[in-house]
Amino acid sequence: MKPFTAPLDDILFTLTHVAGADSTPDWDAEMAREIGAHFAAFAEGEIAPLDEPGDRQGCRLENGRVRMPDGFGAVYKAYAEQGWPGLTAPEDHGGQGMGALMLAITSEIFSGANHSLQMVTGLVPGAIRVLTRFGTNEQQARHIPGLASGNTLATMCLTEPGAGSDLSRIRCRAVQDGTTWQISGEKIFISGGDQDMSEEILHLVLARTSDNGVKGLSLFLCPSTKADGTRNSVTVTRIEEKMGLHASPTCQLAFDGAEAELIGAEGQGLHAMFTMMNHARADVALQGVAHAARAYDVASHYAAERQQGRKPDGSPATLADHADVQRILTEIDTRAMGGRAICHLAFVAMDRGDAPDLVDFLTPVAKVACTEAGMRAAELGMQVLGGYGYLSEYRLEQTYRDARITAIYEGANGIHERMLATRLLTGAPGAAFDAFLQGEDHAGLLPLWQRARAYLQKAADPTPLAHDVMALTIHTLLAALYARIAKAADHHPDPTRIRQLAEEGIRTARSFAPAHAARLGL
Ligand SMILES: Cc1cc2nc3c(=O)[nH]c(=O)nc-3n(C[C@H](O)[C@H](O)[C@H](O)COP(=O)(O)OP(=O)(O)OC[C@H]3O[C@@H](n4cnc5c(N)ncnc54)[C@H](O)[C@@H]3O)c2cc1C
Repeated sequence: MKPFTAPLDDILFTLTHVAGADSTPDWDAEMAREIGAHFAAFAEGEIAPLDEPGDRQGCRLENGRVRMPDGFGAVYKAYAEQGWPGLTAPEDHGGQGMGALMLAITSEIFSGANHSLQMVTGLVPGAIRVLTRFGTNEQQARHIPGLASGNTLATMCLTEPGAGSDLSRIRCRAVQDGTTWQISGEKIFISGGDQDMSEEILHLVLARTSDNGVKGLSLFLCPSTKADGTRNSVTVTRIEEKMGLHASPTCQLAFDGAEAELIGAEGQGLHAMFTMMNHARADVALQGVAHAARAYDVASHYAAERQQGRKPDGSPATLADHADVQRILTEIDTRAMGGRAICHLAFVAMDRGDAPDLVDFLTPVAKVACTEAGMRAAELGMQVLGGYGYLSEYRLEQTYRDARITAIYEGANGIHERMLATRLLTGAPGAAFDAFLQGEDHAGLLPLWQRARAYLQKAADPTPLAHDVMALTIHTLLAALYARIAKAADHHPDPTRIRQLAEEGIRTARSFAPAHAARLGL
């Protein structure tokens, strides 16, 4: 198996030279490289080696508690001791106060090294953001230090048996009891709902405080240990069996009058939860990029070494000498770099804070584009390895299995497509994206995209158009970003590779965007 290598040069290239990280107030390129290199060494040396054994062993439920695979507790301890959980937490609560762009670097590397472990630890920055935005000073002082030190891990509890994409169907109920609240009901599919790595778990729970649809939902902080030091009434009733991510416990949780505190205003739970979900969505987009980059790493190394067939001069050829294998490898590489550029563009816009409408527009686009890229790249990578791709030896089948969920959780991709078509494209976010594209080299695709937008504005029901509109949007955005990538190629250690993938990306966008426009009837 090819050991995991963090794609640090590629990450720093798009962040700095494509997405414009230096336009953000706190960007320090040298510090970013130094922190990225530290995390890369940790991920390569300690986190990634647990990926395969974790997948094989999986999590188990013993006496009502989740046991993580061997070695996960020790690596989490080292992760916490090195200060990674508090990277972007406020300094006055024990964090290091770094900008969110640092997370674009570490999250992608973490997911590439070990998606399962990243899932269980990755909700901490989102929880801190919710506390910073909606918590009282007292709540922040009580909860952030534990999250920043690694003593506490966070969960996000939305899904119920009857409430998946449609959160208005949530039935979990919260009842006020003096100064505290009590939550009762069932949540399913909760990532890291229990584990034995952190001392504490802080569940962020969306629960019903009135029967007024989504306006009756409020957000609660529900710690695993109550104020009096006893265990809170949150129990794991089972761990789900699933296709991949075997080292990430997906838990069914029963809340039985669990003690909780309200965060933010009553009835504003969905609004508060969106802060966490938007963070998680950006993270899931990076998971897709990480899988695509890993697929390229494994497949390109294998193709360079395996001898099959002959070159035109009759000498022995490697797989990489064959045009069709080159085509596949270039597609994987192109998808990884293009997806990463979309994510980084969104992260930079988020960090600058001066274009919230553009961020609203880019978040679902990044989620869909990058998760599709991750799945497709994993599948193509397996093709490059032939029969060995299907076997477990080179682990691409694990990448394939782990990547599959990214298009489903954090809002199924179809839901993001619908949101783009019904709310974002025709309103202020769509106008912000239009304005952004006008300053870009969009390979002539902008007029096509504008026609689609105008067409959608007139449609009585835009939902049947949603998939093709998203695809057209992704191709148009990618055309602009590959143009930026091509322009910046000389800043990368391997400019030839970068120019090649940018050309391929622009060619693909130019060919497929009109096909999706045609499907819309344009
Ligand atoms: C491994 C794993 C980890 C997870 N982690 C968490 C977690 O930590 N916390 C949490 O709260 N949840 C978690 N989930 C749940 C996940 O977010 C949901 O599975 C997801 O939101 C989809 O909900 P659903 O499964 O009920 O599918 P459904 O809502 O039933 O949707 C099924 C399909 O129908 C489509 N669809 C549904 N409604 C519409 C509509 N109105 N218009 C068009 N299409 C529609 C969807 O796009 C989807 O393709 C996790 C799930 C898994 C498998």
